[in-house]
Amino acid sequence: MNAAWEVVIGLEIHTQLATRSKIFSGAPTAYGAEPNTQACLVDLGYPGVLPVLNEEVIRMACKFGLAVNATIAKRSIFARKNYFYPDLPKGYQISQLELPIVEHGELFIKDADGNDKRIGITRAHLEEDAGKSVHERFDRHSGIDLNRAGTPLLEIVSEPDLRSAKEAIQYMRKIHTIVRYLGISDGNMQEGSFRCDANVSVRPRGQQELGTRSELKNLNSFRFVEKAINFEVKRQIEILEDGGKVVQETRLYDSDRDETRAMRSKEEANDYRYFPDPDLLPVAISDDYIETVRKSLPELPDAKQQRFVGDYALKPGDAAILTANRLLADYFEEAARHSDAEVRLIANWIIGDLSAAMNRDGIDIGDCRIAAADLAGLVDRIHDNTISGKIAKEVFEAMWAGEGTADEVIETKGLRQITDSAAIETIVDKVIAAHPNQAADYKAGKNKLIGFFVGEVMKETGGKANPAQVNDVLRSKLGN
Ligand code: ADP
Ligand code: MG
Repeated sequence: MNAAWEVVIGLEIHTQLATRSKIFSGAPTAYGAEPNTQACLVDLGYPGVLPVLNEEVIRMACKFGLAVNATIAKRSIFARKNYFYPDLPKGYQISQLELPIVEHGELFIKDADGNDKRIGITRAHLEEDAGKSVHERFDRHSGIDLNRAGTPLLEIVSEPDLRSAKEAIQYMRKIHTIVRYLGISDGNMQEGSFRCDANVSVRPRGQQELGTRSELKNLNSFRFVEKAINFEVKRQIEILEDGGKVVQETRLYDSDRDETRAMRSKEEANDYRYFPDPDLLPVAISDDYIETVRKSLPELPDAKQQRFVGDYALKPGDAAILTANRLLADYFEEAARHSDAEVRLIANWIIGDLSAAMNRDGIDIGDCRIAAADLAGLVDRIHDNTISGKIAKEVFEAMWAGEGTADEVIETKGLRQITDSAAIETIVDKVIAAHPNQAADYKAGKNKLIGFFVGEVMKETGGKANPAQVNDVLRSKLGN
C-alpha cells in the first residue's frame, strides 16, 4: 500500500456460542424475543443470586482450541471485569483474564505470494455478553433490553501478525468457517453473533517496535472490517507523515461516511480492577475430557480442502470455495456420489449456476431448492449427451423454479438433444442452401464463417442440435 510503512493488525473476534441456555443461568439464548423476556434474576444482576457454569461452553471452547492446535488449560478461572454501563446491571462482566481456557493456537492464511503464512492465536477466553441499550423505541428515553445479557461469548485474540486488511479478512473468514464447522456458533453477523475489534497500527518498514495502535470496535461485516482498517491505516500514516503522533484510543467505524471516529481513550486492564470471581470455582479439565472432545471433532476445513484436491482432482481454488461452508461441501459430495459424470463438472455447476441462483434469491445451501441428487441428475444428462451445456442452463432454471427433475423438464419441454445424424444433415443442407454467398466465402478460405453456420443450425433447432456433430457435418459438407 505504502512502501515506507508497514501495517500491523491484531483481531479480537467475539463469537457467540450456540448454546441453548446462557453461560451462567438457565435462561434461553434465542435471538429476537420481546425485550427482557429472556433474562432471569442472574442475568438481571439481582443481589444474592449465584452463577452456575454451563458445561456446554467448556466443551465448545475446547473444540475450538483443539481445532486451532492450541493448548487447553487444565485449570482456568473466571474474573470480574468491573465497569459501569446501563446494560450491565451487575456492574461487572464475568470474563477470563489470567488463565484463559485456550492459549497458543495458530492457523494458516495465504500471503500476497500465495505461500502459507502462520497467524498466532494468543488466546481464546470465555465471557458473558452484556445487554443492549435501545434508543429508537422511546421518545427522549433509552430502554434497556437484557435478553442478551449472559449470552456466552468466546473471544478469540490474534497475535499482531496480520499485515494488511486483506490478510485480516482472510484470517477472520477462516475463524468464521471453523466455528461453523464445529457447530459452536451460527456465525450470524447481522445478528451480532460474530463480530470483531480490529487493532491497527503502522510503523516505518524495518522497525522492530510496534507503533501506537487504535482499536476499531464492533465491526460486524467482512466488508466493514476491510474498509475500516484501510481508512485507519491511511489516517495514521497521514498523521505520522505530518510529524504528529497517533493516540492510543478506541474508535468507531461509521459505514455511512466510511470513516472512523474517536470514541474514548484506551482503557488499561488495571482500570477494570479485575479479580477472580468468588462465586465461581476454577474450571478443571482432565486429559480424558480433552481426548473425548478431540474424538468428536468433525473433519476441519483445511483437511477437507486437501482431501477434495486429492480425491476429486479439484483445483485448490475450487476446493476452497466448496469447503468454505460445511453444508456446501456435503452437498457437493452427495451430488458426486449420485453422478456418473466427471466430478469437476459437478463442482463447476455448484460454484457457477447453483451459487449464482442462491445469491440472486438470497437462499442458503441448507435451504437449496434443488436436492444434490437432482443436480447430479442434470449433470448426468449433459454427460450422456441428452442435452447440451447450454440447454442445461434452461433445464436448471426450470428445476430451480420447481418444475421437476432434469428428466421431467427435458421431457415436458422437449429439450432432448438432436443426435440423429440424418436429421442434422438435413438441417445443415437447408442452412447451406439458404446462404450460398457465405458458403462460397467459406470455401474460398474464410474459415471463421463456421461460427455463422453453427449459429444458423442452432437457430433452426432451438439450440438442441449436438454442437460437436453440427461442426463435423458442416465441415464435411462445406468441404474443409
Ligand atoms: P487489550 O487487552 O488492551 O485489548 P491486548 O494486548 O490484549 O490489548 O491486545 C489486543 C489485540 O491487539 C491483540 O489482537 C493484539 O495482537 C493486538 N495488538 C496489540 N498491540 C498492537 C499494535 N501495536 N498494533 C496492532 N495490533 C496490536
Ligand atoms: Mg481489547
